[in-house]
Amino acid sequence: MLRFNDIADRVLDYDPNADLELLQSAYVFSAKVHEGQERLSGEPYLVHPLEVAGILVDMRLDDVTIAAGMLHDTVEDTLASLEEIDQLFGEEVAFLVEGLTKISKVQFRSARARQAENFRKMLVAMSKDIRILLIKLADRIHNMRTLHFMETDKAQGIAHETLDIYVPLAHRLGVNWMKRELEDLAFRILQPELCGELERMLRGRHAERERYIEEVKGIVEGKLEEAGLSGEVTGRLKDLSSIHAKMTAQGLSLDQIYDVIAFRIVIEGEAEHVYAALGLMHATWPPVPGRFKDYVALPKPNGYKSLHTTVIGPYGERMELQIRTEEMHLHAELGIAAHWRYKGHGGREQDDEQFNWLRQLLERQRELDDPHEFLDTVKVDLFRDEVFVFTPRGDVLNLPRGSTALDFAYGIHSEVGDHCSGARVNGTMRPLAHVLESGDTVEVLNNPNQAPKKDWLEFVVSGKAKARIRHAVRLAENERSRELGRGILERELRKSGLSLNRLVESGELEPISGKLVKGGVEDLFAAVGYGRVAARSVAEALRPELAEPVEEPEARGRKLRDLFRRERKTGSGIRVDGHGDVMVRFGQCCSPLPGDEIIGFVTRGRGVTVHNRECRVAFELDKDRCIEVEWETETDIKRRIRIRVTSRDTPGLLAKVTKTISAAGINIGSARIDTHDDRTATQTFDLWVSDVRTLKAMMKEIQKIKGVQAVDRVRA
Ligand code: MN
Repeated sequence: MLRFNDIADRVLDYDPNADLELLQSAYVFSAKVHEGQERLSGEPYLVHPLEVAGILVDMRLDDVTIAAGMLHDTVEDTLASLEEIDQLFGEEVAFLVEGLTKISKVQFRSARARQAENFRKMLVAMSKDIRILLIKLADRIHNMRTLHFMETDKAQGIAHETLDIYVPLAHRLGVNWMKRELEDLAFRILQPELCGELERMLRGRHAERERYIEEVKGIVEGKLEEAGLSGEVTGRLKDLSSIHAKMTAQGLSLDQIYDVIAFRIVIEGEAEHVYAALGLMHATWPPVPGRFKDYVALPKPNGYKSLHTTVIGPYGERMELQIRTEEMHLHAELGIAAHWRYKGHGGREQDDEQFNWLRQLLERQRELDDPHEFLDTVKVDLFRDEVFVFTPRGDVLNLPRGSTALDFAYGIHSEVGDHCSGARVNGTMRPLAHVLESGDTVEVLNNPNQAPKKDWLEFVVSGKAKARIRHAVRLAENERSRELGRGILERELRKSGLSLNRLVESGELEPISGKLVKGGVEDLFAAVGYGRVAARSVAEALRPELAEPVEEPEARGRKLRDLFRRERKTGSGIRVDGHGDVMVRFGQCCSPLPGDEIIGFVTRGRGVTVHNRECRVAFELDKDRCIEVEWETETDIKRRIRIRVTSRDTPGLLAKVTKTISAAGINIGSARIDTHDDRTATQTFDLWVSDVRTLKAMMKEIQKIKGVQAVDRVRA
C-alpha cells in the first residue's frame, strides 16, 4: 500500500513549497471517514484515494489537486459533508470535491455511441475546473486497474463505459499514457481470451525481442553520438489493443506483425535537433514511403508534437520510430496536465497562462471541422452555452443554457411540450419555468387538456420550443377568428336570404373564397373574423345584383378617361376667365371638388390644369402662367377623391363605414383595408363626389361611428 510519506517525498521533489500540512490532514481525514470500508479486493478502502493521489503526483499536479484526490470519495461514500471539507481544507479543495461528487451521482450509461458523445459533453460541462476531469480520470485508472475483482458482467459494463467516455476524454486532453492504459485495461476485460493468446505468443519471443531492442538502441545511440546529438532511446512492446487493432485492420496474424515494437528517441535540445536526428535515421535505414508524419510542424489537434517515421530495419523488418524533444515528450504524455502541474507559485498569472493554453488547444481543435470532436465539448466548459440533462430512462438531452423544464419537454417531443403540465426535477415538483442544470434528471408530467399558452414564450429559450409554441398560439387564434367569421357571415348572408351551410355544401362559396382571399372557405371565414374582408362583400360576390356599383380598377380607369372626354365635350364645370369651353384637366395631386378654392395653370398644348389652392403643387407654379378659374354654378359632374378612415380593427366596422358612404349618396370607386399590428385598421376609399359640402357631411357621419379614430381627405 502506498504510504503518505511516499506521496509527500515525491511531491517535495517537484514542489519544495507544497503545503504538506494540507496533504497530511487530507490523508488523516480520508483515513478516518473511510475507516472500516473495504474495496472488493479486500484491501482497506483508503488504498483507493491514496492510489488516485499517487497518480496525480505522477502527473506532478499541485497540492490542492492531490488533496482533492485523497478526498474525492468522502462526500459521496461517507458521512463527511461538503461544509466540513470547506472548513478543514478551504474553498478550492471543496470546490473540486463538490464537482467530483456531482459527477459521481450521474449514471453514465455507455451503450450507444450517439449518447456517448453527449455523456462526454455532460462530463466536461459539469467539470467547472479542468482539474476535476483529471482527478476523475485518475479515479477511473485505478478502478480499471482493480476491475478484475468485480464480477464479469459489471466489469464489462464499466469497461465499455471507459472506452466510450473516458478514453476519448483522455485522448482529447492529450494525456497519452492515460488513454493507452485505459484502452488496454478495457481490452483485457472485454476480450480476455484473445488477450491471453496474444500475450502467450508475445511472451514466447521475449528474449529475442529484448536482444533486438538492445541492438537497435546501440546503433541509434552510436549514430547520435557521432553527430554530436544526445538523447535517450527506448524500445517498448506496443499495447495489446493497438497490436490487435493493427492485426484486424490489416488482416494479419501475429507472425506477420513485425512492428510490435515502437522505438522512441527523445532528443535533448530544440526542434531543429529532432529534424537532424530524423535525417540520421533515414540515412541509416531506408524510410518506408508515405509513412513519415511531421507532427512538429503540424501538431495534432490535442497539441501532440513528434516526428513519426517507419524505416526498414537491420533485418529487413519494418521499424517504427518516434522522434521528439524532451519538452514534446512531456506534453505528449501529460497533455493538458503538463500545463496544470506545479510551475512555482505564480498565482493568478499562472492561471491565466493555463487558461490561455486551454483556449488555444480548443481553437486548434475547432479548425478540425469535425462536429464530434472534443472542441464542442470544452467549448461548453469555457463558454457554458449548453446544459445536459437526463430523461428518466437515462438518455441525455442537450439544451441551450438557461433552458427550463418546458424546453426539456419540447426537446423530448413537440406533443410532450404542448401538453406539459408540470415537471419533476431530481424527484421534486418544479414549475415549468424552472431553469435546468447539467446533470438534472427531468420527468415531464402530461395533461391531455393542457395546450400551449402565449406566456410560455416568456420563459422558453430553445428555438424548437419557441417555434412550436408560436405556431400553436397562431393556430388557436386562427381557429377563433374562423369561428367568429363564420358567425358574422352566416348572419350577413341570412339577410340576403342565403344559407351559409347550403353554399358551403354546394361548393358555391369555394370560388368566391379563391377570389376574395386567395384561399379556401376556412381562410375566408378567418379573413371575415379578422375584419380583412367585409361579410357584405361576400354576399355581393355571390349575388352581384345585390352589389352597389363597385368598379374594377380597369373600369375605373376607363371611367376616368370617359370623364375627361365628357368634360371636354360638354363642359368641365369650370369657367376659365369667364369662358366655359376651355379644355380643362384636374390635378391628380389634389383632386379639387366643387366648393374647393381653385386655381388654373396653363399648360402648353394641354389646356388648363385645375388645382386646389392649397395644393402644394400649386404653390410652385409659375405665377405668369396661372389663371383665374371658378366652378360653374350648375353642374352635376362627380369628381374622384380619396378619403382615409383610421379605426380599431373590429369586425363589422367596414360594413358600417360603407353603409354611411352609400347613405350620403356617394359611390365607392374602390376600397382598401390595411390592418396593423397594434390592432388598428386603415380603410382607404376612392369616392365619386359632387361637392365639398356633401363630402364633409358624410365624413362627419363616419366620425360618429364607434371605433373610428379619424377621417381624412387624402391629398397627394
Ligand atoms: Mn473513486
